[in-house]
Amino acid sequence: MHEISICESLLKTALAELGRQAPGARLLKVRVAVGALRQVVPESLHFAYEALSAGTRAAGSKLEILPIPVAARCRRCGWEGAIEGRLFYCGACRAAEIEIVRGKELYLESLEIDDDGAE
Ligand SMILES: [Zn+2]
Repeated sequence: MHEISICESLLKTALAELGRQAPGARLLKVRVAVGALRQVVPESLHFAYEALSAGTRAAGSKLEILPIPVAARCRRCGWEGAIEGRLFYCGACRAAEIEIVRGKELYLESLEIDDDGAE
């Protein structure tokens, strides 16, 4: 389950960011952008997040996954658009010489922090 190692690094980044932005505040939500090509199973990522955040300052916070669909650009005609399903070819000229421009993302999009709770 590669979601565990993905989650470990996301959580590490989130906690470091929390410490930098608001050391006394509580983490409410972590928003993560995940490209469709990353083959991340959302349920597994949620499960890993819950397990790994327990006992840290992120405990009790929610993980929100923003799925990013696959998009490509055609090297032959310049078309750019979403790729549906598993067939990777140009949506205009059907050429196979396409370049993936979206869908490989995996990053921390934003944090929701409870500033009011800080004392
Ligand atoms: Zn094309």
